[in-house]
Amino acid sequence: MNYEAVIGLEVHVQLRTRTKMFCGCENEFGAAPNTRTCPVCLGLPGALPTPNHAAIHLVALTGLMLGCEIAPRCKFDRKSYFYPDMPKNYQISQYDLPTCRGGGLEIMRESYPKDAQKKVVAGRYIRLVRIHLEEDVAKSFHFETASGIDFNRAGTPLMEIVTMPDLRSPEEAFAFLSTLKLVLLYGGVSDADMEKGQLRCDCNVSVRPVGQEELGTKVEIKNMNSISGVRRALAYEIERQTEMLRGGGRLTQETRRWDEAAGATFAMRGKEMAHDYRYFPEPDLLPVDTAAWLDDVRRRVPELPLARKRRFVEMLKVSDSNAGVLVADCALADWFEKAVKDVTNTQGVANLVVNDLLRELGAAGKGVTESPVAPEALGALVALTDAGRISSSQAKEVFVEMFRTGRAAAEIVTERGLEQVSDAGAIGKLCDEVLEGNAPIVVQIRAGNAKAVGNLVGQVMKLSKGKANPAMVNAVLHRKLGL
Ligand code: ADP
Ligand code: MG
Ligand code: ZN
Repeated sequence: MNYEAVIGLEVHVQLRTRTKMFCGCENEFGAAPNTRTCPVCLGLPGALPTPNHAAIHLVALTGLMLGCEIAPRCKFDRKSYFYPDMPKNYQISQYDLPTCRGGGLEIMRESYPKDAQKKVVAGRYIRLVRIHLEEDVAKSFHFETASGIDFNRAGTPLMEIVTMPDLRSPEEAFAFLSTLKLVLLYGGVSDADMEKGQLRCDCNVSVRPVGQEELGTKVEIKNMNSISGVRRALAYEIERQTEMLRGGGRLTQETRRWDEAAGATFAMRGKEMAHDYRYFPEPDLLPVDTAAWLDDVRRRVPELPLARKRRFVEMLKVSDSNAGVLVADCALADWFEKAVKDVTNTQGVANLVVNDLLRELGAAGKGVTESPVAPEALGALVALTDAGRISSSQAKEVFVEMFRTGRAAAEIVTERGLEQVSDAGAIGKLCDEVLEGNAPIVVQIRAGNAKAVGNLVGQVMKLSKGKANPAMVNAVLHRKLGL
């Protein structure tokens, strides 16, 4: 029997706000432990929360980017549980009135792992269940003989995005998370840095016989903090579940954890341990009416990476793969748009950006915003090629010099005497010289071997030290040979 995997993700995203969710402490990664705290985020008795509206707006913005329905009124609830890194013994979250419901995300082709591009199913759309807002908990550290808790993270705004069980493979889960991360970066919602724990996810996975409608028993793998780890953990878990069923065994609904070093998942707790969170409306916070500000947030919705890619391909004639590279980095795509502003040869600009600019930036260890070549300067370089003043291979050379010195293209071209010769008289003379010196080839051409013209073009180019305009040389030779 063949089995298929069914996967649903619960993605936690730390929002990029100046302050925490219910107090005025700074929301900042990497500060010295317990230096960003107050009675509210320490959970001291009697302290009162004040909602951070910027965080609620970011959740709505995410919902708008992902096509969700935004609740006219949302509210906060208390989720009770005991946790050493949550001293008040409840977390403020959203239960029955989350900020966003429904919506979904189309996975981008370039989001799949490089080695799995063959497995790409085009245009996969993953539906969402909901997006809600909660507060993050503090962070525990375990030392040799003691444990420590850092409350800097306690009470920072955390958004949870829950997908429908629409994903079908570890590679698809990887790609969904990569596309989602890019969308979050485009919206400025989060820095979404998995290494800093700004994007974490719980993976729910089950298997079922191919063709069966009903979902199998699911296992939840908790707290994954790398996209490639998600792929590995799911691959392991799907294999384990499939083997179990093939061997006539039964699966139990449980929570497991992924051990990266062991390359395996291990049981943490079963369903009988499922928590009863005893949710109830948070009495210290009023419900939030979204209508009052939703239109302002709507104006902040950016063009999404997939739409931008389609526009680059359709309107700017950029190749599909170049467009994919450009939109994968919002700042790079912005840079490209500035460079093509006054240029007709948008493809030429895309090629220089994707190949030459990225190569030089990589070698210099710089980001695109630190590029010593301004986008307009690259546009001017491409304009020189378009006008036939330099060839495209000369343009590449000039670009390297521009990157090294920060000087303008026209200046370098003049100084190096690179200027392409497009003067009809000069080219005519060079052609005559080559025709005279190559009587046997001319005879061959006249006898019908038209291909041999290429040899003559090459010789004229050599004679001109590569400066002659090749298209003109070709045309002049054809004319002189009466072809
Ligand atoms: P729970 O109440 O256990 O948290 P939910 O029904 O709320 O479960 O779903 C949580 C996540 O698990 C969602 O992302 C959902 O898509 C996914 N999920 C639910 N059932 C299954 C299943 N049988 N197999 C895989 N994923 C599932
Ligand atoms: Mg869950
Ligand atoms: Zn605080």
